[in-house]
Amino acid sequence: MTDLAARLSAIDQQIADAARTAGRDAAEISRIVVTKFHPASLVRELHALGVRDVGENRQQELSGKVDELQLDGLRWHFIGQAQTNKAAAIRRSADVVHSVDRIKLADSLHRAGEGDDVLDVLVQVNLTDEAGRGGVAPDEAETLAEHILTLPSLRLCGVMGVAPLDETPATAFARLRGIADRVRTIAPNATWISAGMTGDFVEAIAAGATHLRIGSAITGPRPDRG
Ligand SMILES: *Cc1c(COP(=O)(O)O)cnc(C)c1O
Repeated sequence: MTDLAARLSAIDQQIADAARTAGRDAAEISRIVVTKFHPASLVRELHALGVRDVGENRQQELSGKVDELQLDGLRWHFIGQAQTNKAAAIRRSADVVHSVDRIKLADSLHRAGEGDDVLDVLVQVNLTDEAGRGGVAPDEAETLAEHILTLPSLRLCGVMGVAPLDETPATAFARLRGIADRVRTIAPNATWISAGMTGDFVEAIAAGATHLRIGSAITGPRPDRG
């Protein structure tokens, strides 16, 4: 077994254990492998190991890898902060956008749609108390969700959050869970909670996460910039 295969199966085992501890079915939890800063060849290796969900946080890197790789059944998740002028390029490459955090971005993604194509999106919620961070303020999440529901080329799937560095992940994820519950009262199909990274996916599973975004624990350390 390669190191990559060993790390992947070790993480999947930890996910299964955390699900069992939380009284949850691991089959309802999706593991997205975050491949940012790694070469496209790593995505190819992951695909050969059965990975079908990968995440990228920069539009150029996403588009480059999508163009280079034509792999059956691979779903690309965009998880980074998005500029509105990149919306069309993101929409062309991504199957899911986790980081919709303002009405303007939702509108741009919608306008970039063509034909009957529908894009899956999540409302990213800012769990820190710094306004500059990615994500809509918690008390504006429902307004943004309501707006997305008016845009026919977007399908609202749920919410996404990143735990702040200066708070225990469990309390941050509990807040996200509360916001997810409120959003679901206006959008019953918006059942996804995208939360949990290498350092906190066990806590995210305990708090009800349905989609984990795990990078370095599976890929190994990111080459520089990461
Ligand atoms: C990089 C990144 C991750 C994965 O981080 P790891 O700590 O390597 O698991 C998850 N979510 C977002 C938004 C990221 O940018």
